[in-house]
Amino acid sequence: MARIESFEMPEFLKRSEMKLYIDGRSIAAKSGKTFETRNPATGELLAKIAEADESDVDIAVKSARKAFDGPWRTMKPIERQKILLNLANIMDARYSELATLDTLELGAPLSKTVLGKNRAAALLRYYAGQIPLVRGDTLSNSAPGDVISHTLKEPIGVVAAINPWNGPAGMSVWKAGPVLASGCTMIMKPSEETSLSALLFAEMCSEAGVPDGVINVVTGHGAAGAALSNHPDVDKIAFTGSTGVGVKIMQAAATSMKRVSVELGGKSPNIVFADANLDKAVPAAARAVFANSGQICSAGTRLFVQSEIYDEFMEKLVAHTKTLIVGDPLDSDTHFGPVVSKLQLDKIMGYIEGAKNSSAKLLAGGHRMTSNGFENGNFVEPTIFGDVEDDMVIAREEIFGPVLSALRFDTIEEVIERANNTNFGLASAVWTRDLATAHRMSRGIRAGSVWINCYQMLDPNVPFGGYKMSGFGRESGPHHIDDYLETKAVWIDLD
Ligand code: NAD
Repeated sequence: MARIESFEMPEFLKRSEMKLYIDGRSIAAKSGKTFETRNPATGELLAKIAEADESDVDIAVKSARKAFDGPWRTMKPIERQKILLNLANIMDARYSELATLDTLELGAPLSKTVLGKNRAAALLRYYAGQIPLVRGDTLSNSAPGDVISHTLKEPIGVVAAINPWNGPAGMSVWKAGPVLASGCTMIMKPSEETSLSALLFAEMCSEAGVPDGVINVVTGHGAAGAALSNHPDVDKIAFTGSTGVGVKIMQAAATSMKRVSVELGGKSPNIVFADANLDKAVPAAARAVFANSGQICSAGTRLFVQSEIYDEFMEKLVAHTKTLIVGDPLDSDTHFGPVVSKLQLDKIMGYIEGAKNSSAKLLAGGHRMTSNGFENGNFVEPTIFGDVEDDMVIAREEIFGPVLSALRFDTIEEVIERANNTNFGLASAVWTRDLATAHRMSRGIRAGSVWINCYQMLDPNVPFGGYKMSGFGRESGPHHIDDYLETKAVWIDLD
């Protein structure tokens, strides 16, 4: 692996310890405990980070409550808009700092993480645009006498945002947008694997004029997330992460009737019909599963290819995959970096070794990369298994690594049934030039997104979220902000 020697560590990382961000300032954890974060490409120590426990979470919740009860929630729309637009401008100017931290902690190539700038700024401008659109209704009623009724939309209150590790800076922005637009306040708990960009993002929020206590960040392990989901003064949890933890969060939220939205895992089908444009479908099938080293919730991990083109398609896909460069995330030629941690690496290799012992055919990759500079990193070759059967583990479980399971199919009815034969329902894609097939597939698949002749399209104005065990609630889109608003009915007897 070629290493980029000229890279200079970001200023942010020169601090001796990364502290919690509460009430507009950095503070150490009460216990004084820290945990380490390491570069997954090299194993090098990047920083020591404050480890929050229940008492720190309580301080953060109190700070968010105090800010919510202050002037923030009744601020005029135009003032709130100004703050979001300031923050969007800061994203334009300084997103590369967030991207660099993500590259160092997550291992995603810098050439890819910097591209998050446009989306981050667009999201914040989109939510700024939503602010004046928040409105109640005047509703007729049949009450006796002269009685009028209308509704008010009010911010829900204190939100706990609990995030995964696979797209940290983008995830911070996605969570903060509707919170700031609605007048809620937030305690964000980034993943223990990738905490750094959330801390810097919180500082950028203060620079944009977000009042103290509106955006707080507590760093730590699952226990800090659990303390947030159990805290009686949190009104809503916005969780993105695994289905297993999502279930625990819903159970914890039930005791104080918190509002919950959960964006969870997936095992998304990517379905190629014989009439598809293969020049587009082949590289897209590789990107769908290998982007971010397979660590994307909506990754196209189950590739269904119609029988008559299966052999040709797989041959082209394997040839294309062999051209992909796994390497130093700081090198601009690199397509994919390491996976986030040794734990994740071992989990992925476990799935690969299991599949090697099945009737599935290993067509590409299948190994950990352990020489030529890759020794200390968590690198896995982009891996393709062909002739996978529906009931194999690699066709059913979310691997969250660069592993593709390819399956053959014959008819549209059959592939709809098999694509839906999963507990997940996050995303899907269909490749065809036939309009009727495209429409039938988009109606037949039970998933929150269906991409036709494309993959992984996202936009601030288009909702994203899951069916079934992939969760509920939609992020982005005109209705996302409603998840952060209560509806109050007001009755006035004029007699
Ligand atoms: P994870 O569920 O292990 O952790 C997510 C967050 O929850 C972390 O911050 C973690 O510290 C915290 N946590 C752990 N235990 C907790 C508990 N008991 N109570 C409260 N919080 C707790 O997920 P991960 O491994 O960080 O991320 C990968 C998963 O996230 C994959 O399943 C992926 O599909 C999913 N994901 C989904 C989306 C989506 O939009 N649907 C997006 C990105 C990732």
